[in-house]
Amino acid sequence: MNKLQELGKSLRLRVLSSHLGAGVVSNQTRHMASEQEAALVAKPDEDKPTVFDKILNKEIPSTVVFEDEKVLAFRDIAPQAPTHIVIIPKIKDGLTGLSKAEERHQDILGHLLYTAKVIAQQEGLSDGFRIVINDGPAGCQSVYHLHVHLLGGRQMNWPPG
Ligand code: AMP
Repeated sequence: MNKLQELGKSLRLRVLSSHLGAGVVSNQTRHMASEQEAALVAKPDEDKPTVFDKILNKEIPSTVVFEDEKVLAFRDIAPQAPTHIVIIPKIKDGLTGLSKAEERHQDILGHLLYTAKVIAQQEGLSDGFRIVINDGPAGCQSVYHLHVHLLGGRQMNWPPG
């Protein structure tokens, strides 16, 4: 492990411990911990194929709810709400996460959000829904292919965890 990797690891561990705190660990916290662990072991600096490429290439199955020439939307394998859909661009074009967005990505970013609204309607989320984009280790991102989470079907809380 080189110095940069060590620094990254120690930063991720600090983020993890700050999320977890020192108190009693509840079931919810344990679930959060596994999400955070997945995020903290992910490699943010690598623009390599991810599990979402396998889904796009139909190498692994997914439950697709929407598809057009630019995006694919499928049900999250670990749903955090009765409706939990992940919407991804079919062409990553360097967009491992939102923090990598450049001016040329404005069309696809807008299209992802508009698609979220279309799918929310399709899913009957007339009372409201939530859009989430996790970015980087501190944002709890675990898959480095930009994606929008569409969550609905239950009352959301604020502030988010
Ligand atoms: P994030 O933590 O924001 O990077 O979100 C990645 C999401 O992808 C998580 O909510 C995972 O549950 C979801 N996910 C990972 N693998 C799969 C899969 N094979 N099928 C559907 N969703 C997946």
